[in-house]
Amino acid sequence: MKNITLLGATGSIGKSTLSVVDQHSDKFNIFALSANTSWEKMAELCHQYRPKFAVMMDENAASQLQSVINNDTQVLSGEQALCDVAAHEQTDYVMAAIVGSAGMSSALSAARAGKRIMLANKESLVLAGDIFMDAVKRSGAELIPVDSEHSAIFQCLQSGRSGLSKIQLTASGGPFLHTPINELQSITPDEACAHPNWSMGRKISVDSATMMNKGLEVIEAYYLFALKPEQIDVVIHPQSIIHSSVYYKDGSTLSQLGNPDMRSVISYAMAYPRRISAGVAPLDLANNSPLEFYAPDLDKFACLRLAFDALKQGGSAMGTMNAANEVAVDAFLSHKIKFLDVPDVIEKTLNQAQHVTHTSLDEIIANDQSVREIATQIVKQHA
Ligand code: NAD
Ligand code: MG
Repeated sequence: MKNITLLGATGSIGKSTLSVVDQHSDKFNIFALSANTSWEKMAELCHQYRPKFAVMMDENAASQLQSVINNDTQVLSGEQALCDVAAHEQTDYVMAAIVGSAGMSSALSAARAGKRIMLANKESLVLAGDIFMDAVKRSGAELIPVDSEHSAIFQCLQSGRSGLSKIQLTASGGPFLHTPINELQSITPDEACAHPNWSMGRKISVDSATMMNKGLEVIEAYYLFALKPEQIDVVIHPQSIIHSSVYYKDGSTLSQLGNPDMRSVISYAMAYPRRISAGVAPLDLANNSPLEFYAPDLDKFACLRLAFDALKQGGSAMGTMNAANEVAVDAFLSHKIKFLDVPDVIEKTLNQAQHVTHTSLDEIIANDQSVREIATQIVKQHA
């Protein structure tokens, strides 16, 4: 029986993780759950899974939760509590599924404590990739990607890296793949969140529509698989059936395919190196044709270009881009700026922020904070 600490339990990845746990309650036990503010949903989960710990990021939400808990679940609050449950000696596996840079310190805590980290929070690697990977190496933690593209590459690489020439991340192109650029400005948040293939939280849905999600994933792949930036390629594949590919020097390409359902990815991370059922229908290739592929348009999807540039620049550029993106997406979701303002805010922030070569986590966190202020000012000029 493996004890799972599920960070971000009330989100989309959280829900899919619980669905896999439900199918294998003989193998996995929910040890701790976390959420930001939604204490009512957390109360339901505590009733159902009876975790040892329930952590609410928000202190008031924790008090509300405490007042309705009628079993022996201990309610905690705040970032340190997240880090503590992630590193708890009884935690075996940590699902890091908090959205945004808010998920970094708890994921890092799991890495330092040598846990199996099932990493959905790609922002951790974008912000602090070197520190994160170093912590994994030092502690002997097992890092298993919970992102469909990176899981695909991880699976393909099980046969080894000999002769590896490049990896290729597939991108659906999001809901506006075929929308002319001059029509993008009037897109609403709900339209941007209506992803054609995947059901996801609102932040990553907007990231998919701008293709910043693919940009973050390029950086995620750079750290996870220790590649050179030029070994990472992106192709648009609107059907999301091929989840990503690995190219070898001998002309061979290995791809991993499946229906777009994160439960396949999550169950793989939980059962690795074995495979277990996930409740996902088998792929029916004959009913998914044709499979299409296109080169990405970096003028239309400027966020992807910005991410490649930030990776090549290195240092604080990736963290700056990530923080500016979080501010811009939040502003777009609350109708303060337009869809095409998102890359604009990020680019202006990158131009205004000071570029530094980070050495410590404190500097990375300080940069994240100061960049948010710059991006917030730029958002105000657009509003
Ligand atoms: P979501 O918005 O559905 O859920 C986010 C979770 O994080 C919720 O439980 C919420 O309570 C918690 N949370 C939000 N802000 C917080 C804060 N400040 N402090 C602590 N907790 C907070 O998001 P999601 O779609 O499940 O995505 C989660 C992560 O997984 C993201 O990093 C995303 O990029 C990544 N991811 C998601 C998918 C997907 O299919 N949804 C696929 C690949 C990767
Ligand atoms: Mg992905």
